[in-house]
Amino acid sequence: MNLLSVTDRIRPLRSPIDECPLDAERARRLFSALIASHGPRHWWPADSPFEVMIGAVLTQNTAWSNVERALARLKERVPLEAEAILALAPADLAEALRPAGYFNLKARRLTAFCDYYRSAGGLDGLSRLETHQLRQELLAVKGIGPETADDMLLYAFDRPVFVVDAYTRRILSRLGLLAGDEGYESIRAAFERALGPDVPVYKEYHALIVHHGKHLCRTRPRCPECGLRASCPTAPDFAGIQGALDSSREG
Ligand code: SF4
Repeated sequence: MNLLSVTDRIRPLRSPIDECPLDAERARRLFSALIASHGPRHWWPADSPFEVMIGAVLTQNTAWSNVERALARLKERVPLEAEAILALAPADLAEALRPAGYFNLKARRLTAFCDYYRSAGGLDGLSRLETHQLRQELLAVKGIGPETADDMLLYAFDRPVFVVDAYTRRILSRLGLLAGDEGYESIRAAFERALGPDVPVYKEYHALIVHHGKHLCRTRPRCPECGLRASCPTAPDFAGIQGALDSSREG
């Protein structure tokens, strides 16, 4: 069976309410196909939960390679701790973050986050919070939106919260698994419903989506090189209901 059955392609993929049509079988099948195509990614690249959180703030609207350069410059100046970052002069912090782009804005956001982090009792204090409360508190910090908060929850706190980003929306839309205009919370809830509370799978799944979106399913997709093409209605050589995802699932 393919990701997208004939019936699915005839009926609209969108219900009248904002409900994402992703189901467990399709979600699992896509995960298997991505693993088969790219292998495990072992995310998130960081030495500590705090570094994950800082990276999540800095990665907004920029490539990860730029974040790595900014983190390296920051580590040259101070230990990677909230107190030390807050002790930096705003201009020095912004200068350290220059490679991450929007460095003045990111310096303010990082300062706001470090302020919250310190006042909430650091990692120990935040770890004691129940997931919903922690998410709400993170979202209340200036400059932290759902994707950044969920990066932190999943990769720094091991909470079962699925991260949705622009790659998720693009790839699943092209595969016919999303209409594309569902809200963030609708897509997140659909993945969580489909997969159950599985932190290792969530971590790997998001990393695979990012890898696939960066390297193959780009703005101009590289469909001839893509292992999902036989199952993808967007690909020029879409093969219909018999697709490559079957074999990748079994392989
Ligand atoms: S076949 Fe093309 S459009 Fe479809 S997932 Fe692969 S790269 Fe994206």
